[in-house]
Amino acid sequence: MLLPDHQYVTTNSLKECLRLLAESREKAMVVGGGTDVIFNMRLKLFQPDVAVSIRKLDELQQVEELTNGGLRIGAGARLADLAEHPAINDRYPAFAESVRAVASTHIRNMATLGGNICLHTRCAYTNNSEEWRKGLNSCFKTEGKICHVIQTSSRCLAINNADTPLALIILGAVLTLQSAGGSREVPIAEFYTNDGMDNTVLRPDELLTHITIPPVSDRTAFLKLAPRQGMDFATVAVAARCDGTGEKVSKVSIVVGSISTNPIILHEPSRIVSEQGLGDEAISAAVDSIRDELGPLTNLFSRASYKRQMANVLVRRVLVALRES
Ligand SMILES: Cc1cc2nc3c(=O)[nH]c(=O)nc-3n(C[C@H](O)[C@H](O)[C@H](O)COP(=O)(O)OP(=O)(O)OC[C@H]3O[C@@H](n4cnc5c(N)ncnc54)[C@H](O)[C@@H]3O)c2cc1C
Repeated sequence: MLLPDHQYVTTNSLKECLRLLAESREKAMVVGGGTDVIFNMRLKLFQPDVAVSIRKLDELQQVEELTNGGLRIGAGARLADLAEHPAINDRYPAFAESVRAVASTHIRNMATLGGNICLHTRCAYTNNSEEWRKGLNSCFKTEGKICHVIQTSSRCLAINNADTPLALIILGAVLTLQSAGGSREVPIAEFYTNDGMDNTVLRPDELLTHITIPPVSDRTAFLKLAPRQGMDFATVAVAARCDGTGEKVSKVSIVVGSISTNPIILHEPSRIVSEQGLGDEAISAAVDSIRDELGPLTNLFSRASYKRQMANVLVRRVLVALRES
């Protein structure tokens, strides 16, 4: 499959990159590792006039150890490097696990953290070749006005399938978004929206430049279920965090991903185990309360009932993992 006509620009400074994004706006797409964006260009799903590569921007590839014990990671850092990074493995094991869970070794050798965080939502109907899509009416993603997942939906229901955001949400990571006009800090928990089309608050003229993770001494865990280990997108993935030791906790957070247009922060299950601890009964009560929090799920990529059941299984396992860590 040939790439659509486009101009490929390798930027040599952050300033040049931001200027180009400001000038091109919706016509440009940033290329981190290109593992998703180039693939979707071949499918003619993405047809930017300008592909702006950030691969030569050294300042976006560093991992800086902060004096408070946190880390500031450049958005252009390769996942393969982050997976091996000693400070990441020591301080943030669940995040390291989520990095290793992305795709395969070959893809992680190219892919960047920024690209994983900004990964476009995916849909079984549109993430296909142009020829395949011709068999369907246009949908929100292809300049139409319907969603093939649920035809009566007024918004695109494509799924957020990225792994690392879940771990970064429970760690309280903050994203630095820069444009030619300045920069702003956005907690990653507030970065995603529930619209599959405009799935993040990132503006077309903005670049995600850094991810700052505060110091965390709590216990954390990340689990992913995929059709094939070591290659596939998740069917369901879960990240969780708690303080305390053993069953004793006072604050638990749980995030579920890959089943909806945005990662879902589970409030009620977290409240139950925060108040009752991580004993078997409390964990069962927490799992029983998930259904309402997940909301309506679609049959996208796998059946809604299966996803719901697997979310229950993974939340139970992640809470047991926290208790035993
Ligand atoms: C076979 C296969 C399996 C995969 N499995 C998984 C998986 O299991 N889990 C998973 O999470 N992903 C998976 N992916 C998707 C993808 O490879 C990863 O998400 C990867 O981390 C994307 O990073 P990248 O640097 O290559 O992103 P790119 O393809 O370069 O970019 C992805 C998106 O982010 C935008 N972007 C990139 N960097 C920035 C930035 N700094 N600021 C603003 N926007 C930016 C791009 O414009 C684009 O929209 C898979 C892909 C393939 C082909």
